[in-house]
Amino acid sequence: MMKGKAAVFTGVGAPIEIREMEVPRPEPGAALVRVRMCTVCGSDVHTWLGHRSGDVPGIFGHETTGELVELGDGLTHDVLGQPLKVGDRVTYAMYANCGACYYCRVANLPQKCVKLHKYGHGRCDVFPFWTGGFAEYLYLAPGTVIIKVPDELSDEEVTPINCATSTVASGLETIGVRPSESVVVMGLGMLGITACAMSKDRGAGRVIAVDVDPARLELAQRFGADEIVQVGSATAEDLGERIRSLTDGRGADLVVEVAGSSRVVPAAIEMCAIGGRFLTLGLVSPGAHAEIDWWKVVFKCLTVRGVHNYAPRHLVQSLDFVRRTRDRFPHGDLVTHSVGLVETERALELCRDRVALRVAVVP
Ligand SMILES: [Zn+2]
Ligand SMILES: [Zn+2]
Repeated sequence: MMKGKAAVFTGVGAPIEIREMEVPRPEPGAALVRVRMCTVCGSDVHTWLGHRSGDVPGIFGHETTGELVELGDGLTHDVLGQPLKVGDRVTYAMYANCGACYYCRVANLPQKCVKLHKYGHGRCDVFPFWTGGFAEYLYLAPGTVIIKVPDELSDEEVTPINCATSTVASGLETIGVRPSESVVVMGLGMLGITACAMSKDRGAGRVIAVDVDPARLELAQRFGADEIVQVGSATAEDLGERIRSLTDGRGADLVVEVAGSSRVVPAAIEMCAIGGRFLTLGLVSPGAHAEIDWWKVVFKCLTVRGVHNYAPRHLVQSLDFVRRTRDRFPHGDLVTHSVGLVETERALELCRDRVALRVAVVP
């Protein structure tokens, strides 16, 4: 039996352990991949720090790319109809869904499947063991949407596609980006930088990036931001005024929260124009309370919308987006650090400390 190594989470505050585990052969419809790269997502850090519960022992990491090592019976083609073979580099949805339940078939929210198997979350001491990307192998359960990736893309360009890029695609499709409208992006982590570029690509007029960090504001300008606003001690009202001054006095048609902090919500509501929309993608941990004057939501006729994760079509859109815009936006530059599997904990620390947008673990 083949064996491999994984970086195992054993509890909040405990060190990440490197363990050797047996590698199972894939069941029908499943696939085994050798992980080429796994980037640390903010949600890995949230679970590691105990902001939300995580299975123990478990393997973090869902933003990954890998190459096929073995295909289970019946798995012959990817979701686009391209034949699959051992050695192919692939991206995949960050979950397997059943395809048969109410959320899969009726509600059009496969990411809420009642039998959802999400990578980077499950226990690693029960079959199929290889549940997360900070490991040499990942077991793609039956029902995982797989796409072969073009050779021209680097691992740095491909890896964030199946979480960060697809989540932004899901949010922007849901809320809609209309031609020439103004878009404010609050929070310039990986999702925020991507939201600037993708809004622009979808036809936005003026894109305004908002963050505390001057380096990230500068980076946003390489990813489609036309204006930048550095947040210091400004009040929500001040920020609303600032955005109106950049949008012909009206405010933003669309405000996207990707800051991951509910403290920005009052300012977001202030920034919205009459008839504007507010999309929140970043508040992924419980306890994201904010006090807002709901009168403003009614009076300004606002649309408020939350979106969590994505459907497989957003993975397709994201791969296309990165491939199509790679000469315009330096997607690969967002992965700034790379460490080996034994340094997985350091990778988590670098993200916790906001040193890097994306740190890659290369097992
Ligand atoms: Zn993620
Ligand atoms: Zn389902």
